[in-house]
Amino acid sequence: MAESALMTIELTRRATLAGGLAGGLALLGWAATEPAGAAVAPKVTYYPVTSSRVAVLVSGVTGSVRVQTLAGQVLGRGTALSGAAIVSATVPANTTTRLAVVTSTGIVQLSASTTTAALNASLWRVANKRIALPSSFAPALVTATGSFRLRRDCAAAYGYLRQAAARAGHPTGFTSAYRSYAGQLSLYNSYVRSLGPAGADRQCARAGHSEHQLGLSIDLKGSVGTSALAQWISANAWRYGFIVRYPRTATAVTGFEWEPWHVRYVGLPLAADFTRRKAAALETYFGLPAAPTY
Ligand SMILES: [Zn+2]
Repeated sequence: MAESALMTIELTRRATLAGGLAGGLALLGWAATEPAGAAVAPKVTYYPVTSSRVAVLVSGVTGSVRVQTLAGQVLGRGTALSGAAIVSATVPANTTTRLAVVTSTGIVQLSASTTTAALNASLWRVANKRIALPSSFAPALVTATGSFRLRRDCAAAYGYLRQAAARAGHPTGFTSAYRSYAGQLSLYNSYVRSLGPAGADRQCARAGHSEHQLGLSIDLKGSVGTSALAQWISANAWRYGFIVRYPRTATAVTGFEWEPWHVRYVGLPLAADFTRRKAAALETYFGLPAAPTY
């Protein structure tokens, strides 16, 4: 092939890659030092996870990512895996802090809020034996089925999860969904009556310490032990934005026995990253202390 023909192919390839104005410049020979393709900004999703900690999920990135104050103080670091990085940072309570997310392709600024309103809206808020929810906290809910209520986005995701499980031959439903502070208190007291305080604390959260109060947790009927449903949930719940919150491998961190039926909604991007990283507990994933006891 003649050299001129090769040049034409190369210019055409550059034009196809760069497109538009850059493509026109490529045909004029200007593209040799220009990057191919359009710039892609990283996508940042963030929520408070406690009253003094925020988590930032950065998608569309490679390499290391850090979260810092606008003055340059580094608060947290992460490394991308399959294009996504999770970074958590301790920030002042009950206020809004301006932060910068520094990636290899650019810097994104955000306002991370730990106000009550931001915590109440968070999809990633953590409750455990060390972190309590206020007795007054009651999220806005929708009715999912019968008497079972959830936050709206969780209820919709549950619908997709249930349909997919049924298609795979594993029908399921609710054993439990949202539980109020008062409802949790009553449930815990019934566990104490039958198991005693120590037994109750292994199987049932005290009032204010249950993620059922968030309206983002579901106990799935029949997802027990090594049943086919439990195995399907363990492998696939992330596709619908859920994680198994109390896995067998994290009892020392969560303080709860293995609960293959208890799924927690966090949204697909976080559930996917959590799963890719083979994370076991939200506590370690968000850099929070383990919570084996009260
Ligand atoms: Zn549960």
